Amino acid sequence: MSEDATRSRQAPLVIAPEEFRRVGHELVDRITEHLATLPDRPVTRGAAPSDIRALLGADRPLPETGTDPGALLREAADLLFSYSLFNGHPRFGGYITSSPAPIGVFGDFLASAVNANVGLWSLSPVATEIEAQTVRWIAELIGYPADCGGLLVSGGNMANFVCFLAARTAKAAWNVREAGVSGSAVRLLVYASTEAHTWIQKAADMSGLGTGAIRWIPVDRRRRIDPGALLEQIRADRSAGALPFLVVGTAGSVSTGAVDPLPALAAICRETGAWFHVDGAYGAFAARVPGAPADLAGLSEADSVAVDPHKWLYAPLEAGCALVRRPEDLRNAFSYHPPYYHFVQDAINYYDLGPQNSRGFRALKVWLALQQAGRDGYLKMIAENMRLARLLFTLAGQHPDLQAVTRDLSITTFRYVPRELRQKVGSREVEAYLNSLNRELLTALEKSGEAFLSNAVVDGTYLLRLCLVNFHTTQADTEALPELVARLGRQIHGRHTTA
Ligand SMILES: *Cc1c(COP(=O)(O)O)cnc(C)c1O
Repeated sequence: MSEDATRSRQAPLVIAPEEFRRVGHELVDRITEHLATLPDRPVTRGAAPSDIRALLGADRPLPETGTDPGALLREAADLLFSYSLFNGHPRFGGYITSSPAPIGVFGDFLASAVNANVGLWSLSPVATEIEAQTVRWIAELIGYPADCGGLLVSGGNMANFVCFLAARTAKAAWNVREAGVSGSAVRLLVYASTEAHTWIQKAADMSGLGTGAIRWIPVDRRRRIDPGALLEQIRADRSAGALPFLVVGTAGSVSTGAVDPLPALAAICRETGAWFHVDGAYGAFAARVPGAPADLAGLSEADSVAVDPHKWLYAPLEAGCALVRRPEDLRNAFSYHPPYYHFVQDAINYYDLGPQNSRGFRALKVWLALQQAGRDGYLKMIAENMRLARLLFTLAGQHPDLQAVTRDLSITTFRYVPRELRQKVGSREVEAYLNSLNRELLTALEKSGEAFLSNAVVDGTYLLRLCLVNFHTTQADTEALPELVARLGRQIHGRHTTA
């Protein structure tokens, strides 16, 4: 080997500075163009799985040798910009998936360039402190004590799961981490409404409690948990010798945006000694928004809250956040100290506070966006999403071929009802027809690429569902929806009636 060769290395993954700059600028130009023209393009092309596989040449083996990085990035961008579903499109209003904040896009780029491992303070001095500040700011934004503990995780499911495990450790009267849930004859029970998200089944399952440990509490007409029924069930279970350790309140249900009466749940938990957890993955960020349900304020009394920055903070995926009132409850639930770990004792080492060991720098994109928009900017964006959902509810209610059904937070549900069937709504035959008609309609809407909604099923009725966690959606986009839906509905209904 020549002397020069020992001093430089041409590893196959190296991109030299000049090339990095050129390829990077080219990619930024492509992304800029993509974002600027997105509103004029379809929300999705609706390609089939087989189409995408064919494009990828899904059967080709792993390449033996390398390829030019510039060419690879051009190809990847072409593919993604042509065949993705764009939740950053102004007419995307499905599920609870937000448009990505551009500063968050840069944040992820910067974070991976530094590649901080935010499991350990010494591996991520700046990143760890930024994450701690982000957690505090999130707590402030929703009105939760700013001296709480917390950490960023992949999303709402994991945030809820982290809080669930913190509650289990804190409330079990035995060392549940060592002895497991079978370490006592006392059964641990958890309470949630029938509208709660499926994370709770996964958490009950993964934590060893089993889904049979969930007590499903009925809801009222607005789909909020019935506190009377909850208290009765807890008392009955206690009398039977079980340990009701956790009550879950939902702050914004996935299906319709319903907010449980959180202050009433807090009072029940104070009385019964249960841990009070709020699943605020969707709705918690609305807590301080004027006009939001007053019950949201009750989350300030919770022992833990799960929130989802990749929903109403518009962070690019992934970013969830678990908040716990007493920081030591996280350490108690997750910390182990093997002999080969020895480091700064008064610093935060996030591996100690959650299930992950090595951790990415998810906080950066959230931290940047919180500062770009500020508290005021966020409250306005969230309020505008709620206003537009209300507007759709009003417009659908006025439309001769639409029926507006529910509206909570930024979710509105409605359906297409051909005007000549209006008088027959409620009859079994017509309801069955309307269900299948609206199901077809949703598929047709998605295919059209003109807008993207999802669905809800409320008391057996299939509904179209707009959920806005999108800072691009305008009033005009919202005003266009009723006629767009009615037009597709008439086409489908026409085909059925002439057939
Ligand atoms: C979205 C959501 C979840 C799950 O969050 P992910 O980020 O998808 O893991 C849980 N609960 C509620 C109420 C949600 O809206």
